This record gives sequence, structure tokens and C-alpha cells, in this order.
Amino acid sequence: MSAPETSDAPLAFATRQLHAGARGFDAHGARATPIYLTAGFEFDDLGDGEARFADPDTGYSYPRVGNPTAAAAERRVADLEGGIGALLVGSGQAATTTALLTILEAGDHVVAASGIYEGTRELLRSDLGRLGITTDFVADPRDPGAWEAAIGPHTRALVAESIANPRGGVLDVPAVAAIAHRHGIPLIVDSTLATPYLLRPLELGADIVVHSASKFLAGHGTALGGVVVDGGRFRWDAVPGRFRQIAGERGPDGRTFVERSGERAFLSAARRIAMRFGPAPSPLNAFLLLQGIETLSLRVERQSGTAAQLAAWLERRPEVVGVDYSGLPSHPDHDLAVRLLPHGRGALFSFTLAGGRAAAAAFTDAVRLFTPMTHLGDVRSLVLHPASTTHAQRADDELERIGIGPGLLRLSIGLEDAADLIADLDRGLAAAAAAVPARELEAVPA
Ligand SMILES: *Cc1c(COP(=O)(O)O)cnc(C)c1O
Repeated sequence: MSAPETSDAPLAFATRQLHAGARGFDAHGARATPIYLTAGFEFDDLGDGEARFADPDTGYSYPRVGNPTAAAAERRVADLEGGIGALLVGSGQAATTTALLTILEAGDHVVAASGIYEGTRELLRSDLGRLGITTDFVADPRDPGAWEAAIGPHTRALVAESIANPRGGVLDVPAVAAIAHRHGIPLIVDSTLATPYLLRPLELGADIVVHSASKFLAGHGTALGGVVVDGGRFRWDAVPGRFRQIAGERGPDGRTFVERSGERAFLSAARRIAMRFGPAPSPLNAFLLLQGIETLSLRVERQSGTAAQLAAWLERRPEVVGVDYSGLPSHPDHDLAVRLLPHGRGALFSFTLAGGRAAAAAFTDAVRLFTPMTHLGDVRSLVLHPASTTHAQRADDELERIGIGPGLLRLSIGLEDAADLIADLDRGLAAAAAAVPARELEAVPA
């Protein structure tokens, strides 16, 4: 695959989100990235087919392995994250699964942050658990000692989110990366909520970044996608016997991925794994993702700014018992957010209503601009009740321990006018208060 370059001079983020990876590779000169809707690519001759099969970088063959539209999106995300390359797949879950299956085998152990995305948590606990890969969850990811203590002789990956969902915890990426590297283990960061505009984990020491591109990267809420980005610095062959699929197994040419692909070993192995498991992205979705990324910094800057305004407004309201937003001084990770998130603290936060589930239900029914749905990072503002949806399979005492009570609502702030959103929140709070008479409030768990 020829990789058309943009410029050697360092360009700013806002410029790269428009230009990186998608310049000058269409034979007809189309300026927008064409959508290559094809189930295959012609071989020039028998030898050409053989070459493309042996090395996908020689040219496209079958779109499960690679597609020019997807490749443009891969180059752009890799550029924005500061990685050496990326792999686009059909969803965020496919990205996480591909990254983990590239690294892990039966008998391996993972240490993950307890507040990780519920889909990832269940993947680790249930599905990978069934395949003989065990996971321990760090109850307090802000305690470096807890990560250190959870690492055992078979630990092969640390997994966390740069900004955690729904309570907005911020990962001390440099501290956790340092612990991982002391043990010869890669740190995988799900950076969906931060986006490369707010935080670039690879620059802070992480080794692999995964995204649900369905969220902020696309932004328009019209397509699913996932990306795995490789930092290219982790030494997979540093400890003999580890990371067998990348540094141990030999291909038909007698070489391991490390020997064949050097710093791109993980990425090449991930592409091979993805080719076999089949989470190929639709070229149309790759195009939609590229369209979305063109406005990423503008959206996230504005959405974060509005989120900060709304979070501060909610914190002053008597109907609200607490707001979890790292942009507020009341958040336990506020100092980390100031240090690691100078361009904004993200567009997602949660708040807890006095009055528990009844208040949350009344609020959700009353708001007109906030759409009740399980999605985030959309240009439209969204509201979700985690205790009855994303976290419904957790026991009540567990939910209480992790601070996701029946009165907690998660908001994803869109691009609407801030004053209109505040008026909508006001409408929701009035309904919440009316649903739970004041004299009953003290008896209701928030
Ligand atoms: C949505 C999400 C995922 C899963 O992504 P899909 O595109 O829905 O498969 C993973 N991690 C985080 C943080 C998410 O918000």
C-alpha cells in the first residue's frame, strides 16, 4: 500500500485532522476520499497475487485485510495519536478484542481498571476468561501501588481508559505506563472519551491506543467503527517466551513478526488476527469517520467548554447531590485533569439527583433536547441512566461501591447552544423535584 505523505514540516492538530493520510492517492484526483465499495482488488498477474498475499503492504487483495478508504482513516488516526500506524475495524469492541487477542493467549493474565467500559469488562471477565485468560481489576486506578500489586508472573497487559466512563476518572498515564514497562508489559489505553485532541496516551508512555470511533472521532452518530493505534516503541521480544504471536511464532518465511516488521510488529500481527477473526470495517463507515474527524478539534473544544459550564451549573442546584466531572475542583482527579488535559476535560460527565430512580426517570421524561440513548460523543446531547442500562447486570451493593447509584445520570454534551441546554436541564430538574416530594427525599437513596 503506498502511503501518500502530507508534509515533513510539523503541522498543527487542526491542520492534520483535515489533511493527514488522505492526500493524492486517488487515480482520478478526487479530493474527498473515495469510498472503495468493492469485495476485491484485481491482481496484475499470478506473481502479483502471490506477492500481495505474502505481504499486504505490497497491494490490496481482499478487503478483510485492507481497503484504501479504511487505510486513509488509519493513517489519519495514527497521525493524530502520534502512532506509527493503525488498524481500522468495525466497532470499538472489535478494536479492543483485536488488540487483546494479538497480545494474549491462554494462561495469560490481564490487569484492568475496575471502572473500564462495561463491554470491555465483560469481554475480559466472561469471554476471555472462558478462553483461559484471567483478569484482575484494580479497584482504585489512581493508586499506582494497586496496579503494581495486581501484576503477577503471567501478566501480559495493563488495560485502562484515559478518561473513564461514567464518572470521569482520569488515568495517570505516565505513572501506570512506567509500572507496566518495569514489568515488560504493554499499557493499552482506551482513549474514546478523551480523543487525541484532548490527550495522546502514546506521547505519555502508553503502548497501544484503542478507540470506539463511533463516538467523538466520527461525532455525527451515524456509523460504528473502532481503531487500534500502535505506538511502535514496545519491545515485544525483550523477554524471551513472551508475546508468542508477535515475537515467537514463525511465518512461512521462517521469521517472526518482530523480525519481519520491526517496530510495526504488533500492527502486522493485529492485521493478521483481524483478518482471521473478521471485524472488517465497511468502506462507507471509514469514509464517514474521515468526514467526522475533519471537525474533531472544533467539536471537542466546544463540547468540553459547554460541558464545563453545565457541570458547574448543576453542582450549584439543590436537586443535585453530586457532579462527577474532572473539570470541577470537587472531582478527585481535578489535579490530574489540570496536568494531563489542558485543552478541556471532555464532554461527558455524570450527576446524581436527590430522589433516586424516580427522580432520574422524571428528569429523563421531561428533557426535550437531551436524547435518552446509549451512545456518547454525538453532536447532539444525550442522557443515560447507567444503573438500569449499561450497568444493569451489576449488583446493587456493587453499584453503590462504585458510586453509580439509582439517581445517577450520564450526560454527553453536544453542540447545541449552552443556554438552551441549561434551560432543558432546568426543565428536567423541576420534573425530578416534582416527582419526589421534599419530605420523602431523605428516605430515598440517591
Ligand atoms: C462505546 C465504547 C466502546 C465500544 O465501542 P463500540 O463502537 O460501541 O463497539 C469502548 N470503549 C468506550 C470507552 C466506549 O465508550
